[in-house]
Amino acid sequence: MAWVRLDENCPDHPKVEGLSDGAFRLWVSAKCYANRLRTDGYVPQGQLKKLSPRTRYKLRAASELTRYRLWHSPGSVDCGSRKCPYSLGVSADGGFVIHDYFEYQPSAAEIQELSEKRADAGRRGGLAKAKQLASGPLKPVPSRPVPTRDRDIEFSDEEEIPVQRVEQIGFPSYGMLGGSTSLKVARLCPIFGWELRKSMSTPGKSWAYFAKVVESIREEAAKPKPPAGALKTQLRYVAPLDRNGIPIPRPQESAK
Ligand SMILES: [Zn+2]
Repeated sequence: MAWVRLDENCPDHPKVEGLSDGAFRLWVSAKCYANRLRTDGYVPQGQLKKLSPRTRYKLRAASELTRYRLWHSPGSVDCGSRKCPYSLGVSADGGFVIHDYFEYQPSAAEIQELSEKRADAGRRGGLAKAKQLASGPLKPVPSRPVPTRDRDIEFSDEEEIPVQRVEQIGFPSYGMLGGSTSLKVARLCPIFGWELRKSMSTPGKSWAYFAKVVESIREEAAKPKPPAGALKTQLRYVAPLDRNGIPIPRPQESAK
């Protein structure tokens, strides 16, 4: 179950105070609808009947909300609010958009991101627990977390790393490797140590993204190469090369 938030003072807000009961009801139930269906504040006109079954004149209630600028209708003025989906590009075509919906409600993208994070944390928690159970009697838990370093996570740049170890190394960042992505990653293996290091230092949340980065690194490597020495330097400093193959110093270095 998720929640819709309402400002505790909203019934007294000048915009809300003057609403008819029907419009008020529609305003509240539309927020619930938008949150439940993750519409980013969009309310299709076809939903009015369901949202406000006891309101006799639903369109009138809807236009009341538009008039009080609690809703946007197609072609209504852009309010310019950074918390308003309408102002941020959600279209009101075929319905309405709740003004300032993002003031208290998360966007669909934020909900998605949060649920992915939770699932990921859950997977990690589950695996850690399974590992602990498998390793026999429980060890006393240190009062402060002790940083540990897994030997398996260390690898050299030249090493060719098979898929099992790639998964092991990537697990803390991306979770378990499964589904069609595991095929994709397996096809890229073995992965050179430097490729792995480079792709893992590129921020991303998933194995799918990781695979994409490895592919792009290889595409980059397949392009005409600068002299070998310069390439090495490039990998170490990740500095771009000028047309003679000489690494361009970072802006702050050249500025001094
Ligand atoms: Zn607005």
